[in-house]
Amino acid sequence: MDQNGLLRLGIFAAILAVMALWEAVAPYRPKEVVRRPMRWLTNFGLLLASAALARFTIGAAMIATAIWAQENGFGLNNLVGMPAVLGGIVTILVLDCAIYWQHRLAHMIPVLWRFHRVHHCDVEFDVTTAVRFHPFEIVASALYKSLFVLLIGADPWAVVIYESMLSGFALFNHGNVHLPQSLDRALRKLIVTPDMHRVHHSSVMDETNSNYGNILSVWDRLFVSYVDHTRTNDYDMQIGLEEFRDGKSQSLLGVLWLPFRQP
Ligand SMILES: [Zn+2]
Repeated sequence: MDQNGLLRLGIFAAILAVMALWEAVAPYRPKEVVRRPMRWLTNFGLLLASAALARFTIGAAMIATAIWAQENGFGLNNLVGMPAVLGGIVTILVLDCAIYWQHRLAHMIPVLWRFHRVHHCDVEFDVTTAVRFHPFEIVASALYKSLFVLLIGADPWAVVIYESMLSGFALFNHGNVHLPQSLDRALRKLIVTPDMHRVHHSSVMDETNSNYGNILSVWDRLFVSYVDHTRTNDYDMQIGLEEFRDGKSQSLLGVLWLPFRQP
């Protein structure tokens, strides 16, 4: 593994450990619908399957694209010659907005929803939900993000920082944790908090189709998809998808096959 990969893995493992510890000490929703070992096997199994598929297909597509753009003077940043900090901020803003739209389109376009529903059929909501994605969705997302890296002419280091933020925020905002309400209110003016993102995992479809943001909460406000809270309450709300609550929608092999079957 190269230096960038090791750095990203280290940051990911550190944030995962902090969130898992936080959940163990002060879990918000104590109820367990599916036993934890089964969910961990499924969710971490998907993470390993995605890592393996990415390694043998796209590899480090985003970094390779950024290096190619830099060497060939391609993309906004390389044409204009932005200062490094400004180029980094533009990269984070553009990629976070692009991911917002990728996520929103994954809910709107049926074939994309088939893959994205693997993430949503988790009947619990905790830090492991953050890694529960079908490997094909992970690969498609990396190719999609690479297009924006090319257009921005993003610096390779800005890509490493953005990717670390993307996974770090996903681990944070899927945490089965609860911030004091005043802190949550202050933070969610700018970033996505666990209480804000939990609404997105509600079984009520118009709540599922809301709060698509990952890092910044501004996109949901700007593009009118922000929902402040669930109709029931955060503590008792039902998580997951109504039509995929059976055992074969929860096992590792079941979720790998989920995009290709009817409910
Ligand atoms: Zn979603």
